[in-house]
Amino acid sequence: MLLEVKNLVTCFYADEHVNRAVDNVSFSIPEGKTVCIVGESGSGKSITSLSIMGLIEKPGVVESGEILFEGTDLLKSSQKHMRSVRGAKISMIFQEPMTSLNPSYTVGYQLDEVLKLHQSHLSKKERYEKVIEALKLVGMPYPEEKYNEYPFKLSGGQRQRVMIAMAMTCEPKLLIADEPTTALDVTIQAQVLELMSKLQKEKGTAILFITHDLGVVAGIADEVVVMYRGHVVEKASAKELFSDPRHPYTKALLNSIPTPGKVKRKSRLETVDENIDYLQFPKEIR
Ligand code: ADP
Ligand code: MG
Repeated sequence: MLLEVKNLVTCFYADEHVNRAVDNVSFSIPEGKTVCIVGESGSGKSITSLSIMGLIEKPGVVESGEILFEGTDLLKSSQKHMRSVRGAKISMIFQEPMTSLNPSYTVGYQLDEVLKLHQSHLSKKERYEKVIEALKLVGMPYPEEKYNEYPFKLSGGQRQRVMIAMAMTCEPKLLIADEPTTALDVTIQAQVLELMSKLQKEKGTAILFITHDLGVVAGIADEVVVMYRGHVVEKASAKELFSDPRHPYTKALLNSIPTPGKVKRKSRLETVDENIDYLQFPKEIR
């Protein structure tokens, strides 16, 4: 197993109050596979991925659990080991690419920096060729020209492509994508998803894909982890989850996917109901 998250608890402290944002979460990611975490806004998806990346900051604390990457517990690793894992073996694409691209540097410069850091044996010329190759691979039009552009000159879809190129140039074993397509329009969304699975096939990268949209999950997931208020309520292969959802929350989420051609949802009761505490039902972890 490439990554095993076991009984992860991550809390946020505010005065007297403790918010268990991630509460006893366990799941694993096999090498080369795509695992999706799905759940509504606030269910703890991003905090789970930031915990894996070692990027939880105060008032947040990873309280307990294990995060085994290639058998080594990242929670017990030194800062130095964590830095070498982050970027080189695990990389992450964030929801809003503008916040992770530096507006003051060109696209090429930023990609070059990543290579310098993680593939220091390459010459300047080799790095340039690798950057152009990566931009081509992610379907960027006119890669040589885009190399010298600043991020604000690119469209949202192109910026997200740069982020993917950046995440993929280090050839990570695991790519964490936190709602990478949420800010994009539907056509670009589909292109980005297609691109990620193409890269996965070529490089054998495992993907942890985070989304609030079960509709997106259907097309890409091998395994699905359903989160609700910090808890995993159901875990199954994509096939099982869609053909035989067991937890009432999963069923509600599935019923909230709009069906093409159908304007109205089936009924209010079959979508997620804010007045129901879905934690009252037994978990259906398979
Ligand atoms: P999502 O599933 O939408 O990605 P998050 O993982 O971002 O949800 O958030 C999970 C919970 O953690 C929420 O209750 C949120 O309020 C809390 N949380 C997230 N970030 C912080 C923070 N920086 N400070 C305090 N609470 C936070
Ligand atoms: Mg989030």
